[in-house]
Amino acid sequence: MARPTSATIHIDALRHNLGQVRKLASGSRVMAVVKADGYGHGLERVARALSGADAFGVAALSDAERLRAAGLSQPIVLLSGFDAADDLPKLRELSVETVVHHPAQLEMLEQSDGEPIRCWLKVDTGMHRLGFAPEAVREAYSRLSKAKSVADGIVLMSHFASSDEFAGSASDGRQTREQLRQFGEATADLPGARSLANSAAVLGWPDAHGDWVRPGGALYGISVVDGKTGADFGLKPAMTLSTRLLAVNRIRKGEKVGYSATWECPEDMPIGVAAIGYGDGYPRHVPTGTPVLVNGKRAPIVGRVSMDLMSIDLRAQPDAKPGDPVVLWGESLPVEGIGAAAGTIGYELTCSITRRVRFVED
Ligand SMILES: *Cc1c(COP(=O)(O)O)cnc(C)c1O
Repeated sequence: MARPTSATIHIDALRHNLGQVRKLASGSRVMAVVKADGYGHGLERVARALSGADAFGVAALSDAERLRAAGLSQPIVLLSGFDAADDLPKLRELSVETVVHHPAQLEMLEQSDGEPIRCWLKVDTGMHRLGFAPEAVREAYSRLSKAKSVADGIVLMSHFASSDEFAGSASDGRQTREQLRQFGEATADLPGARSLANSAAVLGWPDAHGDWVRPGGALYGISVVDGKTGADFGLKPAMTLSTRLLAVNRIRKGEKVGYSATWECPEDMPIGVAAIGYGDGYPRHVPTGTPVLVNGKRAPIVGRVSMDLMSIDLRAQPDAKPGDPVVLWGESLPVEGIGAAAGTIGYELTCSITRRVRFVED
């Protein structure tokens, strides 16, 4: 029998979420961010489903290659930028646009000849990851506009560190306001389209939408806003991770379950064993009590998650039997909650599904 563990990707949900982003940011074009294999959903599959987007954002040139090989002809933006002069011919060949965030890149562009490449000039407005400091932006812009290998129509962009904190939250969105102010100041008299908003800013910062929004997570139906799920914003989860019970065993009161015997049965009880573990990408470090759905009903994981298996308290479902369906996350069990139980965000979980999991579409 084939291993029953699968990730079902909901194509309609991806399309619905793109529609929802368009409604929320109706004045902006949409760059669908499909880095990290479409947040683990499958790059080509996601890009085909989101072919209505105005552009795709990737982190690696190899992803741009895969998109072109799949026949996708939308603009593609290399969000981390190129890092070697050798990359420039490849950008031209694949017709890929690039983020420019560092003086070393300006030099490489100035020394390159060939077809002009469209550039997205990145301003560091306070996240302090990639980008030119506000006071260096005008010079970078001017060098780019003069370089023959840079196409007309430089886009000005920045990235938010805390846009998941909205106005009215505990921080009142202080950092985002400050980043918006810095960006406005650094780019005040420069022509060109503007792009700032990741998913959280699409959802909660309408003033930051600009000419191009750049959602990733929202397209997969995942929220990073504390205590909220994608559904709270009208989004639908694009992935259901599921498997089946391999066994249901009656274990006696006082017996311990799983590696290191971390959980003890408080009474004689049925323990289900499901065919999924950290070897499939389910986080090992979730605590006892983290829910799964067995036959559509919540049941808690007990003891340690192991590589191929996990144990489930089935006291509330004494009739559950081997072969019954188990859902790890999906529409009725938001991945955001499992992420919180694992001390991370939903994005990391969908990105971490391993290769032995079968991917299916519906
Ligand atoms: C990943 C990324 C995004 C998308 O972020 P989400 O939170 O998934 O919407 C947008 N812009 C840049 C530069 C990114 O790296």
